[in-house]
Amino acid sequence: MMTTDLTKSELYIHIPFCVKKCLYCDFLSFPADEKTKERYIEALCDELMYIGCERAENPLRSVFIGGGTPSVLSAEHIVRVMDTVKERFTLEEDAEITIECNPGTLEEEKLKAYKECGINRLSLGLQSSHEKELKTLGRIHTYEDFVSCIRMAENADFDNINVDLMSGLPGQTASSFEETLRKVCTLSDCIKHISAYSLIVEEETPFGQMYEDGQLNLPDEDEDREMYHMTTRILSEYGFERYEISNYARPGFECRHNIGYWTGVDYYAAGLDAASFYGHCRYSNTPDMEEYLKDPISAPSLIEKLDQSGLMSEYMILGLRLTSGVSVSGFEKRFKTGIFDVYGKEIDRFIQDGLLDHAGDNIKLSEKGLDLANFVMRAFI
Ligand code: SF4
Repeated sequence: MMTTDLTKSELYIHIPFCVKKCLYCDFLSFPADEKTKERYIEALCDELMYIGCERAENPLRSVFIGGGTPSVLSAEHIVRVMDTVKERFTLEEDAEITIECNPGTLEEEKLKAYKECGINRLSLGLQSSHEKELKTLGRIHTYEDFVSCIRMAENADFDNINVDLMSGLPGQTASSFEETLRKVCTLSDCIKHISAYSLIVEEETPFGQMYEDGQLNLPDEDEDREMYHMTTRILSEYGFERYEISNYARPGFECRHNIGYWTGVDYYAAGLDAASFYGHCRYSNTPDMEEYLKDPISAPSLIEKLDQSGLMSEYMILGLRLTSGVSVSGFEKRFKTGIFDVYGKEIDRFIQDGLLDHAGDNIKLSEKGLDLANFVMRAFI
């Protein structure tokens, strides 16, 4: 398991705006006018100042500006957010600072401003290299828009870029997905990380309705499995190693921020509906925009306080997402009890069934276990 320093924290900043809603999306995101964006940034900076002064005790090892589409904001808005972060928080010298961007919303000026204010990692939402699939998803951009973003990012000296891809899309075939994977892998040396998720059709989305009405032409189960398996094989051909169920990176470019989530690092969060976890408690900000704009520093709602058994369960479930698995000695150090004393029965059973491997200090999902990850993890809840 990757080792993490629990005396460091992370910060997530939510930007809920998008140009237009994608047909599969159930995130809290929506289009907004300039006035709303301006009011939001003001409220967000107030909240960041408050968190920085009152709550955040540890230096930040990463900042993630996510959404939504943060790149729909002006460069000046993002610079204001970053200035507030730098003023009120202590950032580690080599902190990873990511911004999520979508093709169709980026310009050279914005990238230059991101670079100057300390952002050192871009995460670009592509999903597919095929125009027909992008249209079906309701994305606002073409593949060419994505390529021009990559070229602009290279010119602005960004050399740590993630690309989001999706499989299991309506009308997608194993060969169209393979083409997307190969195109992205060979496009630029600056692409160091790929997140590859399977489409989940959520009820409350236009896709949910289309599915109900029998209008969503999804790949069948065999084709879907083929895409899932080819992801790891093809990405590894190009030097992207799987380090988490859906995440692949060139060595040394694993996403620090997400590894923090999976290894129990405290994280603060600012913005609409943003979720944080610190002092063994999970909190959530209001999802109501007017409420948030009126009072961005009101205490977030306590969602859950984890006791020792909740923390141990979380350690197992999140840690097993990583291909390196959970550390036996790390568990003992953190919880002052042995992992086999708590989960011996479950671990032994899964090792016998070939779903878990125990090698050295690590317990991790086997190849077969990775396919049945949800089933294995349920046993640790
Ligand atoms: S760009 Fe991302 S956050 Fe925005 S609507 Fe599309 S999927 Fe949702």
